[in-house]
Formats: sequence, structure tokens, C-alpha cells
Amino acid sequence: MQGKLSRPSFKNVKRILVKIGSRVLNTGQGLNYRVIERICDDLSMLKDRGIDIGIVSSGAIAAGNALLGIRDHNVGLSKKQALAAVGQGKLMSAYNDAFTRYGYKVAQILITLEDLENRKRYLNVRNTLSALLEFGVIPIINENDTVAVEEIQFTDNDMLASMILPIMEAGLLIILTDTDGVYSADPKRSKNAERISVIEHLKSSDVDRASPLAGKWGRGGIESKLKAAYHASLLGVPTIIASAYTDHVVSEAINGNDLGTVVLPSRRKKITSRGHWMSFVKRPKGSIYVDDGALRAILDSGKSLLPCGVTGIKGEFKTGDAVEIVDKTGKVIAVGLSNFPSHELEQVKGANTKDIARILGKECDDEVVHRDNMILRKEMA
Ligand code: GLU
Repeated sequence: MQGKLSRPSFKNVKRILVKIGSRVLNTGQGLNYRVIERICDDLSMLKDRGIDIGIVSSGAIAAGNALLGIRDHNVGLSKKQALAAVGQGKLMSAYNDAFTRYGYKVAQILITLEDLENRKRYLNVRNTLSALLEFGVIPIINENDTVAVEEIQFTDNDMLASMILPIMEAGLLIILTDTDGVYSADPKRSKNAERISVIEHLKSSDVDRASPLAGKWGRGGIESKLKAAYHASLLGVPTIIASAYTDHVVSEAINGNDLGTVVLPSRRKKITSRGHWMSFVKRPKGSIYVDDGALRAILDSGKSLLPCGVTGIKGEFKTGDAVEIVDKTGKVIAVGLSNFPSHELEQVKGANTKDIARILGKECDDEVVHRDNMILRKEMA
């Protein structure tokens, strides 16, 4: 990570995704209508200029908390889900009122991680989003908190936004929060903490080192914002992390004014939206261990993984599930989609291609993971 780089402007961007966090949307006594209105004023101006806008908005649980007068934030999952059900309508009505003043319409989209893991549903979300944008409607997206249980939740809405980004084909991600960007140290603790204006070459290891400060309302902290920005950078999309309290924050940031932190897109070959889906949306269901021959074939010659290179299998997976490909030292070298269910792979591991049909008693794919369905970890470091 580094600062002191020149600040790009994004005046030519056609479509932006704005993520607004729980911390800024709540006063503690309910939704912060003033902030919502100010952000929507600014976004309406951009809509007037012909820019497509999508919003990922948190705030449902906190709005539900306030509506039911519940002060305790640790109420347990099912109560949180109930609070989200109460608050989500209130949240939508706030956006609806704010945008109606400018003649713009909004649509509610509630999504679970399982929806996005399923390729068909993922593509359905894409079609719906595309139709909404074509109608000139502003989609307001949140996690479907009411049905998502802990193990299938997005870690937070920053993560949800990074997943929506390629689906919406947005050219810029803006994360609005309660701090003016990313600082060199925790500004609440260190006088010397400086805002970093531009970050180039953000690596996954930089993200791991960032402080995981999460707010009491929402689930994400600065670490999750950097993680979302890192995913965006791999997709070739810049991210601006800025304070929701700055006047006209989005248009100022688009004009290239020095506020918040810009994370520049990676200079490497972009990963495709399908590559992003395989690497970051679809959670791996198991691991396939490979020998040195397969390792070299995959890493050096761009080959598929064949059964003869497989030495072991961990976990239970079905055909089409995501798996990690692991070398003999235990290092994950790639992720991909398996053509074999784990119980069949167990039978054919180490076998020659010509023997596979005989062993399984049926015709099947030659490759365990085809190269087209594989993303190397080194492409994402
Ligand atoms: N979906 C949650 C809500 O609307 C917020 C999750 C988050 O803050 O990341 O309250």
C-alpha cells in the first residue's frame, strides 16, 4: 500500500455501485434520514447526468432495533432476522421518499449468498439488475437477512457489494462509511495517523494486516472495505472509500477531488466475472491434493487437472462444486469446478485417463478440473 500518488478522476464512468453502511444510516434512535436524503440528492444529480446507480444498503437491523425500541445489539440470530424484517421496509421507504423528490424510482433486491453461489440464480440476478437499470430504476440491494443463517451469510455488506459489482457491471465502487477513507494507523488512537489518498497494488496480505474494526450496528470494518476494494481491483474496477457525511461526496469523488481513499484497479490481467464467481462467491466444498507432475502441468503449462495427478481428496463434493487444488506442501494453488463427485474421484485418483470409464463403469470427462474452470491463486495474490 502507498500514498502520494496522483488522484484520478472518474468523470467518464457510466455505472456506479454505492455501498452505504449501517453506521452512517443510523442515529442510534432510528434511521438517519438527513444523511439518506443528502446522499440521494447527490446521486440524483449523477442520475441526471446519465450515470446508472445501484446501491447496496445496510441498516435494516438497526432500523428494526430502533423501531421496536430494542437497545441491546446482541439479541441472537433469529431476533436479528426479525428486526431486519421490521426495518427493511422502513429503509426502503426512506430511499423511496428521497429519490421520489427527483422523479426517480427504486427497487428492492434482497439476496442470500446461496442465491449467488447458484450460477443460474446468479445470472438471473444479473438479468433483473440489467432490466432495472434499463428502466432507469435505482436498485437498492441488501442481504435477505430474514432467511440467511449464520453459515450462509455474507460476512458483511462490503462483501455483498463486491459480489454485486461484476453482476451489475459497474465501473466504480464507492463505499460510504463514517471515516474519511483509510488511514496509515487508527486515527482514534494515533495522532500521526494520516489519510491515504491513493492505494496502488493492493495485495491480499495488505488486507489481512488491516484493523478489523467493526461497528456495533453493521458487521464490516475497514478490513472488509479493503477486502471489497481488493476484489474490485482484481476485476479492474477502482474503489473509493469515503465519508458519507461529506457534502456531495460521490460527485466530488468522481470529479477527482482529494477526499477519502481511492484504491486503483490492479494492473494485471483482469479476472473475468465468472473467474470472480469461481474464486470468491462459490465457496469450496472440498480439496483435491495433487502431485508435482500435476502441479507443474497446471502452473507452468496451463493444463487441466487429470485423475492421474490426484493423490488425495478432502471433503464431500458434487459435480460442479467448487474445490481447492492443493499441492503436497498443503498450499492452495488454484480453485476450480470439479467434473467428478468426491466419491467417484476417490475411485479414480491416480488412474490413467484410458482406465477411468472402466473403473467407474460409465463414460465421463477426462479432466477432473478443466483449465477453463480453474483460477490460479498466483493470479490473485
Ligand atoms: N444486512 C444488514 C442490515 O441491513 C447489515 C450487514 C452489514 O452491516 O454488513 O442491517
